[in-house]
Amino acid sequence: MLRSLLNLLYPNLCASCQEVLLKNENVICYNCMVDLPRSLYYQDIENPIAKLFWGKIKLEMALSAFTFVKKGKVQRLMHELKYKGNTKVGELLGIELGKEIDKAEITDKLDVVVPVPLHKKKLKQRGYNQSEFIAIGVARVLNCEMNTNLLKRMEHSESQTKKSKYERWENVGAAFTLTDSNQYIGKHILLVDDVVTTGATLEACCKKLEEIEGVKLSIGTLASS
Ligand SMILES: [Zn+2]
Repeated sequence: MLRSLLNLLYPNLCASCQEVLLKNENVICYNCMVDLPRSLYYQDIENPIAKLFWGKIKLEMALSAFTFVKKGKVQRLMHELKYKGNTKVGELLGIELGKEIDKAEITDKLDVVVPVPLHKKKLKQRGYNQSEFIAIGVARVLNCEMNTNLLKRMEHSESQTKKSKYERWENVGAAFTLTDSNQYIGKHILLVDDVVTTGATLEACCKKLEEIEGVKLSIGTLASS
């Protein structure tokens, strides 16, 4: 009763179109949800995301759930997730990403979902790691654990901007560290991030994760630009 009254006064709005949500809708309205530009990359093992890592990292599977269009719905939702504190968007879209991954043909079942860690400075600014919320949704669908401690980002000693592009890339490679990784010997790890552009950060994470004996790696992102 109180809830419906509150809803009347302060209605829940769709994170995408800002229309009032219906009773059975959650965070994103039905119309926006069906309208999201799905990449359908799960159907194609040689999709553009997988190709980004060819010759660099051996992956079991890589895909992104949605295509990023400038000023489109996905961009708006990413903005809500990253800058408006709307972490529910991450969880909900993470569930959608999980469903796409579930449809992909992979030989080895996934064991653990690992979100790409955020810089300490950024984490302090934002207060949360958006990729962690995406990973929560993904792990729920795939029915596997999530680990936010396995991969850690090291703090930078020098300003990134002072370095050349190559040095920056090199620095990214050394920017991650592993903790308690023995439990994942021979396991299949799914690395999760919000948006993939060049793939450099994901590659650096994978390079580190590859140090775990017999590990298998896959990548899932919400969007690609
Ligand atoms: Zn909507």
